[in-house]
Amino acid sequence: MRKQIRIRGTVQGVGFRPFVRNLARKLGVAGFVRNTEAGVEIEAEGGETGVFLERLRTECPPLARIAEIDVSDLPPAGETSFEIRPSARPVGDFALVPPDIATCDDCLRDFTDPANRRYLYPFTNCTNCGPRYTIIQDVPYDRAATTMAGFRMCAACEAEYRDCGDRRFHAQPNACAECGPRISAALAEVRGWLGEGQIVAIKGLGGYHLACDASSDGAVRLLRERKRRGNKPFALMVGTLEDAAAICFVDDEAARELTGPRRPIVLLRRRPMAVISPVVSPCVAPGVPDLGVMLPSTPLHHLLFADGQFRALVMTSGNLSEEPIVSREEELSRLRQLADRFVTHNRPIRTAVDDSVVRLFRGRPVVLRRSRGFAPAPIDLGRPLPALAAAGGELKNTFCLTTGHYGILSQHIGDLENYETLVFFRETLDHMQRFFRVKPCAVAHDLHPGYLSTRAAFEMNLPAIGVQHHHAHAASCMAEHRLEGKAIGVAFDGTGYGTDGAIWGGEILVCDYAGFERRFHLRYIPLAGGDTAVREPWRAALAYLGDAGLGPADAPALADVDERRMRVVSTMIGRRFQTVDTSSCGRLFDAVSALLGVCLESRYEAEAAMELEAIAGDDSTAFGFELCGEEIDLRETIRALIAGLGRGDGVASLAARFHHTLAGAIVAACNQVRHTDGLHRVCLSGGSFQNMRLLEATVAGLEGAAFEVYWQSQVPPNDGGLSLGQAVIACARVEG
Ligand code: ZN
Ligand code: ZN
Ligand code: FE
Repeated sequence: MRKQIRIRGTVQGVGFRPFVRNLARKLGVAGFVRNTEAGVEIEAEGGETGVFLERLRTECPPLARIAEIDVSDLPPAGETSFEIRPSARPVGDFALVPPDIATCDDCLRDFTDPANRRYLYPFTNCTNCGPRYTIIQDVPYDRAATTMAGFRMCAACEAEYRDCGDRRFHAQPNACAECGPRISAALAEVRGWLGEGQIVAIKGLGGYHLACDASSDGAVRLLRERKRRGNKPFALMVGTLEDAAAICFVDDEAARELTGPRRPIVLLRRRPMAVISPVVSPCVAPGVPDLGVMLPSTPLHHLLFADGQFRALVMTSGNLSEEPIVSREEELSRLRQLADRFVTHNRPIRTAVDDSVVRLFRGRPVVLRRSRGFAPAPIDLGRPLPALAAAGGELKNTFCLTTGHYGILSQHIGDLENYETLVFFRETLDHMQRFFRVKPCAVAHDLHPGYLSTRAAFEMNLPAIGVQHHHAHAASCMAEHRLEGKAIGVAFDGTGYGTDGAIWGGEILVCDYAGFERRFHLRYIPLAGGDTAVREPWRAALAYLGDAGLGPADAPALADVDERRMRVVSTMIGRRFQTVDTSSCGRLFDAVSALLGVCLESRYEAEAAMELEAIAGDDSTAFGFELCGEEIDLRETIRALIAGLGRGDGVASLAARFHHTLAGAIVAACNQVRHTDGLHRVCLSGGSFQNMRLLEATVAGLEGAAFEVYWQSQVPPNDGGLSLGQAVIACARVEG
């Protein structure tokens, strides 16, 4: 019998067809393999077809991901050889476009070997590495459908491309110095500029970085000023794993993430400043104990570190603080004010993709920003879903498409607060709908009417399905773990539109994909000043103090706040004039951070919470709290914190005890829900669980109480993961 084998998954642009051909020939199997819209199609007959089928799965290339194999019988065709055929015409299904992949070790060897024809060629790549999503203009993925279409391969490259035994067989971006893209400046010159403390815009895989010498206080400070970035930490690029380990604590898991094909920024605990200051200026990440570190993802990056002049470079997204990353030469004017020099090249970036960010929790990655190297790899949701779009939230926006068994999350779009980001959102949505041939039958959106993502959803002229923010967070976690039925959803974050007009953010829900009931929430406090309150944590502190029956005089740290403004805000809170009720966990962290004198004014999102996490010591005793009706009432905790300050307890110990108290309150509330609803699965989501201190204490507490605990790993717990939750909820409503 001849077998028709249809394979779905990430099987294009990852060396899958040559692998199939070589395997078939080894086993005396005849037939063909070709790319289709859905993945690859194989027909096979003769030889050891059974072994062939088996080894397709077990020996597939490192970057390939087989999601499904479908085998059916055909009449024998009497073929005697096995070939790779050209891609089939579109057949109405969709292909899975692979993410961009960092330079592999083989290519690294090629371009560091003076005898190799790719010696020092900054665009060296092969079937196992190189640009993908960022250069693909259409599917199926062939050179003609990429931004490499304009480069004609030289004879040597062409020969590799056609030789099935070669590592570059059908490597679509294959190129060399003879025939491929070129860089606009000599790398020695670029290193010279960086050495002089200049800020250099450098074109990477998915967009421009702004780079400067990480050891230079002056250069880092200048970049900070120009980017209008406050105190927000900058990411670093280092040349090697050893350089990363010299400035940070790198364990095996961290090393695996750092050197893996996706090359995200990995958040790592830094070594003492005194040790690392010759390499990393204190201006890189003031006030936080972690550094965001990545290794080079392109040969061009490797060349920046070539002569050992730099141990670390600041590498930050080429954009003004809230705008999308610049990826096209015609947009370079947006960087004129920021960079002194430009290093560009003539391989166009079709789709802008920012760096990804990963943190490690219990030895496993938690993705905080899912972008380069990850997007648009589909998330297998384990069952077929209707085709839908979900517009996501406002901050850290991503959108999501569902098709087949998959949720396809966009790369990080950014904060949808300006026109440029909205344009990027619309372009990427169009692009991905075309790529994945998704025709959504409805669009999900956040309930907040003011979000640009909500408005963009309405513009799509599809039935619109509103999804409550925290329900979406919980569902995102459930979907990632393919949970069915009801679970306890713990959604703790900064801000989300509630169904009662209040701002929610400390929510314990009982939910499935179809709906939710709110079981507990942090006790409401009146927040004065809306968005201003987010930048001024002392406002939340005043509200919490008042609620606990205390006043500003009880909190010595508030003495640093302008007295007149504090009086105005106190009056507003007292009279509930222009205040809004909130159960936000973000504001609770703000309040405690301000009360302990850690952070009174926040210069970037979640600064107060991050600094509170950073100073927390080892004390794990909890303060008192109460569960009352639906309320998690922490007034006693606030009073205990103030009393502790009065006794002269250390801020580190008080901060640690606060984290444990909050985790304890979550566990106690979950216990009550287990009692009333008989549920034992808990899903943790929301931006507050980026705080590893809170996550660890909560997971440990829940596990200790025999709950089954789930947290997000592939999908961000912050609003970057919201769109996946919206999508699965909308699917349930459409199906329901
Ligand atoms: Zn390679
Ligand atoms: Zn060439
Ligand atoms: Fe949120």
